[in-house]
Amino acid sequence: MIEKIGIIGAGTMGRGIAQICASSGLSVTLCDVGQEQLDDAAKSIETGYTRMVQRERMSQQDCDAALSKLSFNTSLDALAGSDLTIEAATETPEVKLPLFEKIAEICGEKAILASNTSSISLTRIAAAVPRPERVIGMHFFNPVPVMQLLEIVRALQTNDSTYNAACRVAEQLNKTRVTVSDSPGFVVNRILLPMINEAVLSLAEGLATAEEIDVAMRLGANHPMGPLALADLIGLDVCLYVMETLYEQFGDSKYRPAPLLRKMVDAKYLGRKTGRGFFTYG
Ligand code: NAD
Repeated sequence: MIEKIGIIGAGTMGRGIAQICASSGLSVTLCDVGQEQLDDAAKSIETGYTRMVQRERMSQQDCDAALSKLSFNTSLDALAGSDLTIEAATETPEVKLPLFEKIAEICGEKAILASNTSSISLTRIAAAVPRPERVIGMHFFNPVPVMQLLEIVRALQTNDSTYNAACRVAEQLNKTRVTVSDSPGFVVNRILLPMINEAVLSLAEGLATAEEIDVAMRLGANHPMGPLALADLIGLDVCLYVMETLYEQFGDSKYRPAPLLRKMVDAKYLGRKTGRGFFTYG
C-alpha cells in the first residue's frame, strides 16, 4: 500500500506531480537542492489549488487537506520511509544515476523507485541500484494536473509487483496509463517528435507556409493544434534534444533533426518562451 511519496526535483514536473499526489490523499515530501525552488514550488502548488477552488473543482476543505499533506526539504534524508519516490530532477545521467544510488540507500529495500525521465534508459537507471527490479518509469506530461496520460515504463529488470504498484498509483491519481517497454522516446515522443520534425522539413522545403502547414494538420488530420505551434509550445530546444536522442540511440537516419530546427535553436528562437519560434508571441 503506497501512502508516503517522495518527489525529487521541484521544477516544472516535480511540483505538478506533488500537487496531484497531495490532492489525491498521499503524503508528499518534495525535495530539491535549492530552498528557492522549494519556496517557488510551494507557492505554485497553492496557486493551483486556489484556482481549482475558485472554479469550484475543489472544496476549500479539500484544498486545506491537500496542503497539509505536503512537506518540503532540501535534504534527501527526508525521503526515508517513503513507499515510492518519484525522481523528477534535471535530465542528465550525471544527476540521475548518483541520485538513484543515494535514494536506494535512504529509502530502504522495500521502496519503489520511479523516474519521470523523458530520455534516459530506465534499464540503465535500474542498473545503478541494488534490487533493480523495484525501479520503474512514471512519465507524466506537462502540465501534470491537466494532462491525462501517464506512460508507465518497464525497465528490463522491473518486476510485476513494482509494475502493479505503479498502476495502482496511476489509478489513485486518476491518470490514464499506458504500459511501455523501455525504448527511446517511449510512445508519445517517439511518434510526436518525428511528426514535428517532418513539419519543419516541409517548411524548409517551401511546401507551404508555417500557417498553412498548421491549418492543414488541424483541419485535415483533426489535430487540436498544428505541429509548428505545438513545437513552439514545447520549446524548440526540447524538440531538438528529443530528436538528437532518438537519432543517436536508434542510429537510424529517419530521426535526423531538421537543419532548420537546429538553426532556430542556434538563433535562440525557442518558441513561446523566447517570444519567437515558428510564430511570434506578444
Ligand atoms: P526543471 O529544470 O524544471 O526542474 C528540475 C529540478 O531538479 C530543479 O529544480 C533542480 O534544482 C532539481 N535538481 C537538480 N539536481 C537535483 C538533485 N541532485 N537533488 C534534488 N533536486 C535536484 O526540469 P523539469 O522540466 O521539471 O524536468 C524534470 C524531469 O521530468 C526530467 O527528467 C525531464 O526529462 C522530465 N520531463 C519533463 C517534461 C517537461 O515538459 N518539462 C515532461 C515530461 C518529463
